[in-house]
Parts: sequence; structure tokens; C-alpha cells
Amino acid sequence: ELTVQDVAAWIETSNEKIQANKEYLTTLDQAIGDGDHGINMARGFQEATKKIAEQTYTSSAAVLQDTAMTLMSKVGGASGPLFGTAFLKLSTALKGSEPVDYKTFAGGLEEAVNGIKQRGKATEGEKTLLDVWSQLAAYFNRETGFDGEKMAEEAKSAMEQTKEMTATKGRASYFKERSIGHIDPGSASSSYIFEALADVIK
Ligand code: ADP
Ligand code: MG
Ligand code: MG
Repeated sequence: ELTVQDVAAWIETSNEKIQANKEYLTTLDQAIGDGDHGINMARGFQEATKKIAEQTYTSSAAVLQDTAMTLMSKVGGASGPLFGTAFLKLSTALKGSEPVDYKTFAGGLEEAVNGIKQRGKATEGEKTLLDVWSQLAAYFNRETGFDGEKMAEEAKSAMEQTKEMTATKGRASYFKERSIGHIDPGSASSSYIFEALADVIK
């Protein structure tokens, strides 16, 4: 189960990890993009954390809805609307369940994946943040309960698998085969988001 406090802590912890790895995310995006991913994510998550800290929430869905709206307007780039959509779909799926049970959350992740696919016109294996969200949604729907350690491992492995992929979406697709050998920046930040969730439920 996830309480509203857990969900707020999830966003805060995601922000901590993204701030701590801001330079690294930028380095990844310098290799196969325009070098702004760390800055984009750090700005968006900082704002989302601030917004959440300013209010008292009674539902997890409301925390995630405010997160989604803030990410959409503050992250920018290609990734902002995609992370925004993911959190918005998750929020919608969680409406009315408080605390959030495991099955509802797992279903919500599937909705988030569908949202990213639609918005990004992306599918698995194209070396995008979808690869992490999709693998995690599949993992959650295979399992029956929260396990922080396994969740973090799954996120890390999904991120690492993007290294050998050829990018066919976003700026990295301009690099074609030269994108091989580099981790996708959006997958790295997505993996921090799931590592943060793992920390919270541990
Ligand atoms: P920009 O590329 O506009 O500078 P960012 O650097 O913030 O935006 O984000 C880049 C990340 O966005 C990529 O690493 C990739 O994971 C993700 N991305 C880009 N285009 C798509 C897409 N069409 N579908 C899914 N993810 C995408
Ligand atoms: Mg970029
Ligand atoms: Mg950019």
C-alpha cells in the first residue's frame, strides 16, 4: 500500500536523486542530444516538490496530478510532456483509492505507459524513457507486492539495456547508429524515479 505521504515522499526523493545526478544526465544528453536533460528535469522536479510542500493533500491522485501539471509546464523539451502525461495517467488511475493498493498502482503504470506511447508515438526498443516505464509496468504486473530491492534492480537494468539500442525517436535519432553505446538520458532519469519509489517503500 502507498499512503498520500508515501506518494509525496516519492516525488521529493525523485527530486533529490535528479538534483544529485543533474550533471550526469546532462552529460548523457550531450552525447546523443542537446545537453539540457539534466537542467530540464532538475527544474521541473524542483518546482513539483515545492508545489507539493506548499499544500496538505488528502489523496495520492491529487499529489500526482499537481506533479504532472508542474512537469508539463516546467520541464520543457520533448521529455516534459511525456513525464507529465505519465504522471497524469497514473493520477487518473489512482483516483478514489486511498491508500493505493499494489494492484491499482500496477494498473496505473500500464496506463502511464499507454499515455507515453500515444503522446510520443513511441514503442518499446526505440531507446527512449518508454523503455524503462514499460519494463517497470510489466514487472509490477507480474509481481503481487512492492519489493524495493527488486524494483530498483529492474529500473537499473532497463536503463542499461537502452545502451545497446539504436535511437529512432527524438533528437538522439539524428545520431542513428552512433547513438549505440550511450544510455538514453530520459531512461536514466526514469530509473531515478523508480529508485526513489523503491527507497520510499523499503
Ligand atoms: P529534448 O530532446 O527536447 O532536448 P530532453 O533532453 O529533456 O528533451 O529529453 C530527451 C529524452 O526524451 C530522451 O532521452 C528520450 O528518453 C525522451 N524522448 C524524446 N522523444 C521521445 C518520444 N517521441 N517518445 C518517447 N520518449 C522520447
Ligand atoms: Mg535534450
Ligand atoms: Mg532540448
